[in-house]
Amino acid sequence: SDSHFPVPISPNQVDYPLHYPQLFPSSDQVDGSKKIQFADIGCGFGGLLISLSTLFPETLMIGMELRDKVTEYVKERILALRIAIPGQYQNVSVVRTNSMKYIPNYFEKGQLSKMFFLFPDPHFKEKNHRRRVISPHLLDEYAYALGVGGIIYTITDVEELGEWMKSCLDGHPMFEALTHEELEADPVVKLLSSATEEGQKVARNGGQTFQAVYRRIARCL
Ligand code: SAM
Repeated sequence: SDSHFPVPISPNQVDYPLHYPQLFPSSDQVDGSKKIQFADIGCGFGGLLISLSTLFPETLMIGMELRDKVTEYVKERILALRIAIPGQYQNVSVVRTNSMKYIPNYFEKGQLSKMFFLFPDPHFKEKNHRRRVISPHLLDEYAYALGVGGIIYTITDVEELGEWMKSCLDGHPMFEALTHEELEADPVVKLLSSATEEGQKVARNGGQTFQAVYRRIARCL
């Protein structure tokens, strides 16, 4: 249950020296100027983060994962890479948490520039749709955490879930779809299936994928 993992009471309580020890050698050096910008929600075994870490070496990123053992695996994976290649993978970390409850504890308004929801659990039954990580209500939270211009990436091999995520995003006033040209120009889009463990599995089995990539827009009320 949730009581088994600590949750910061607010984003300024997130332990940056714990997650990025080389970049924040002691807690008195945390000046708040460098913050996490990418969040991989339900990161699984961490393949996307590992690829992003070297593609964006100056950006702090974190995976959020509910399963304890999987989180420990990702931690070990990052540690091993840090040891094998000194100086690299210092910008990536993982935390065990329930992203459906605690996003606002980790990120302040407009802090993130990218959020990833890759191959989330489908929760097929109608009564379980409220457990889906993309929903109209949770999109309000993601719109809050993302800065204007920030991008939300989703992909699934379940057609019905793909349509659901797309319709939630289409229906939300603070998101607009990237154009075909923008998708082509974004190097991260190619990683959505190639860098994640789940994407690789789907590709091996020759499965189809359905992606929805949207930008957080400004809204004059
Ligand atoms: N994104 C990874 C990939 O593409 O390889 C993993 C996909 S896996 C099918 C979905 C992951 O989401 C699982 O590891 C699961 O434990 C995690 N998850 C499900 N609900 C979650 C929640 N509320 N908070 C954090 N992680 C969650």
